[in-house]
Amino acid sequence: MLIKGEWISTTSGGTIPAYNPATGELAGEVPKAGSDEANAACEAAAEAFRSWRSVLPRARRDLLARAAALLRERAEEMARTLTAEQGKPLSEARGEIKAAIQAVDYYAEAALRIKGELLPPSAAGVRNLVIRQPVGPVVAISPWNYPVLLTAWKVAPALAAGCTVVVKPASQTPLAATAFVKCLADAGAPAGVVNVVTGPGNSVGNVLVSHPLIRKISLTGETGTGKTIMKAAADTVKRLTLELGGHCPMIVAADADLEAAVKEGVYRSFRNMGQICNAINRIYVEQPVYDEFVRKFAEHTRRLVIGDGLENPEADLGPMANASGLETVKAHVADAVEKGARLLHGGNRPAGEKYARGHFIEPAVLADVNHSMLVMTEETFGPVAPIMPVKDLDEAVALANDSIYGLVAYVYTRDLAKGWRIAEALEAGTVGINNVSGGEVDFPYGGWKQSGFGVELSEQGLYEYMAIKHIRAKS
Ligand code: NAD
Repeated sequence: MLIKGEWISTTSGGTIPAYNPATGELAGEVPKAGSDEANAACEAAAEAFRSWRSVLPRARRDLLARAAALLRERAEEMARTLTAEQGKPLSEARGEIKAAIQAVDYYAEAALRIKGELLPPSAAGVRNLVIRQPVGPVVAISPWNYPVLLTAWKVAPALAAGCTVVVKPASQTPLAATAFVKCLADAGAPAGVVNVVTGPGNSVGNVLVSHPLIRKISLTGETGTGKTIMKAAADTVKRLTLELGGHCPMIVAADADLEAAVKEGVYRSFRNMGQICNAINRIYVEQPVYDEFVRKFAEHTRRLVIGDGLENPEADLGPMANASGLETVKAHVADAVEKGARLLHGGNRPAGEKYARGHFIEPAVLADVNHSMLVMTEETFGPVAPIMPVKDLDEAVALANDSIYGLVAYVYTRDLAKGWRIAEALEAGTVGINNVSGGEVDFPYGGWKQSGFGVELSEQGLYEYMAIKHIRAKS
């Protein structure tokens, strides 16, 4: 843990172990904070804010640029740590570190471009200036699926804006996120500007989000956690950015490029073992191409290579990150099959000694599903692709929107006019037409409905950490 510039390796609360999901072996340990450490970190951030808020943007840029250089030097070591604690294949972990560096680079430069406005006079002799200022000390809480990237998406814009931060990584994956914060400290972040506290969400996290000196909370996590934090934040009326759960639909029109829809649909359903907020969770296919799509999708899925991400860095998939995720996958598949779905592939532990110990499971492809099945309404957060036939695209849109979530949606069609119409009708913060890419640093990323509010990335992602002030001056 890092509090007020001091690294702390033990506390009276003991330690939290992080285990390798591919082998069950210990990957590392971090101290388990109690409320004393959580309070101390908030106080350190509040004290440091008094001076950090007025440090020149150029100096904030320089700090982030130096941190990015250290991240580049340490990228391979950090990627190995990330694979060891999270399970994703090493090539994927390298990609995550690279994307985190990209966010740090982006916000380093964005610090120099914070804009205000000079608006027309409202009365004689009056000047109206609207400026943006940092909101204050921030608590940044990240989940275990992309622990480094989602910490970077919060810390980089917060520091660029002039805020100070207390980072709370997920207890299951604290190692690489802490290594990320170390780069900022080693790059010369003044004491208290960035702190990291490791410990359970419901105890230590709760102290952080209720702390009166904290002005803003940025969370990526489950929708239930978002609701708990909203309530905790209400007493002191803190600002919130909530990136919560998702249940992302993919719509495949009869005129789609089926090869692309299958290839990219498989990738986006199963990458990181489906433990990614923008994973495709349900697929609606127009009747005329349904059988062909289902057959090709299952064929393509069978070709995916599963492995221990350190031994086989280029594997498509690693183990799931934890045992409870594996249980949810099995329960959702069993529920769907019981209600009449066809299991075309996967859903079981792969055969062989090397898969015996970790949280391994073959990605599952289900056909003939419907909305009575859990997999079509609840976030599985695992490698399951349920496919359902629809009579037309209006039905597909209605079903896609029949969800409490609204994070990301995808549509495949060769008719762009149709693509636009569907994209505008979908209730989601991001829509991909004929592609499944997203989360690019230049564009805002955030949810609708119970997927949260506020955005990360882009210029808007920076302004989430800034408050607006109108200065009305009369001469
Ligand atoms: P989680 O909600 O269990 O935990 C997220 C973080 O919140 C952890 O650090 C945890 O310790 C902390 N936390 C839990 N309870 C808390 C409390 N009461 N007070 C303060 N902190 C608390 O989520 P997870 O299982 O780590 O991550 C998976 C979830 O994250 C999925 O639902 C997924 O969809 C979501 N997610 C969303 C996005 C997005 O951009 N919308 C991106 C990635 C993941």
